[in-house]
Amino acid sequence: MKPIVKSSATLFRLFGIDIKLHFSWWFIFVLLAWSLSGSYFPQILPNLNPYLYWGMGIAAALLLFLSVILHELSHSLVARAKKIKVESITLFFFGGVAGISDEDLKPGEELQMALAGPLFSLLLGGVFYALTVLNGNLILTTITRYLSQLNFTLAIFNLIPGFPLDGGRAFRAILFWHYKDLRKATYIASLGGKFLAGMLFFLGILGMFSGLGNGLWFILLGGFLYFLAGMSYEQVVVKQVLSAIPVSARVVSKSLVLPAEMRFSDFVKKHSSSEQDAFLVKGKNFWGILDSNNTEPLSASQQEKISVGQVAIPLSTIKTLMLDDTAYTAFKYFQEYNVGLLPVMEKGKIKGIVKRTAVMHHLRWGMKFGIR
Ligand code: ZN
Repeated sequence: MKPIVKSSATLFRLFGIDIKLHFSWWFIFVLLAWSLSGSYFPQILPNLNPYLYWGMGIAAALLLFLSVILHELSHSLVARAKKIKVESITLFFFGGVAGISDEDLKPGEELQMALAGPLFSLLLGGVFYALTVLNGNLILTTITRYLSQLNFTLAIFNLIPGFPLDGGRAFRAILFWHYKDLRKATYIASLGGKFLAGMLFFLGILGMFSGLGNGLWFILLGGFLYFLAGMSYEQVVVKQVLSAIPVSARVVSKSLVLPAEMRFSDFVKKHSSSEQDAFLVKGKNFWGILDSNNTEPLSASQQEKISVGQVAIPLSTIKTLMLDDTAYTAFKYFQEYNVGLLPVMEKGKIKGIVKRTAVMHHLRWGMKFGIR
């Protein structure tokens, strides 16, 4: 789920894993602390000092935030134990996402990884429940009761077999083990996700019309889950189609090479009528990519002063392709760098280029007609 992970700041590191905060989390944190201190806690424990409600609200929201980190961390530590790369944990609007690499996961590994989070949330719910029962302080028990309820809710909601929720991942792992076909398994599990999304949506509409509140949240969550279920399945299909195409055999072509010292105005004059947007640029000890889609607008006088080498992205700053890479690797780099072409290297030399349009063509045809 890479797109969500952008616009985040790293908070701290835990067990060597970056814990990041997406800006949307602040919105939900303030909203939660506000609704807890403004209405939830005053309803349960009336006639307290308003500052105390705020203290309770902020404490409960922070502890909930910690609960979500621990949930994601338990996924991550199981992954780590299986020697699977864990990049980071990001907290955002609807909870947390662990950036765990999904390259060639085995069904058994995915099953254990998926179940670790909800099981830990169940455990946390139990701990907060025990604290509620054992503690005599009314203020503390109000907070711990709320946290035990939320951790139990988190565990149960995540165990619903709708992909990409944890339960859906576990479901997919079992289907994958049974069918030996990841695409089919993901397809069925993501239908579960879409069904759940539809249910949430329906409950949301029902809630709105009956005036029972929370309806909007259900609608938002349903919409979000529907989007995620569709996207997750598409990612698997894209990966399957493009992983079957080696860069060497199908996608490499030759490219026009621009000299780095060429004036930008000359470049525009010469190439404005061609259909090509991206070019390789060669200078003294320098290779780069010039992509007109990636270049800021330049005035006529700027174009006279500047050379194509000054505008090009140096190859030393990006990852390049190898002959034995697949079109899927190319696809990922194209997304990462947003360029129209990437060079293919062999023993430090450029063997040719891969055009983004060529990869997208293979993807469209592969999805429609299968790979030949
Ligand atoms: Zn989880």
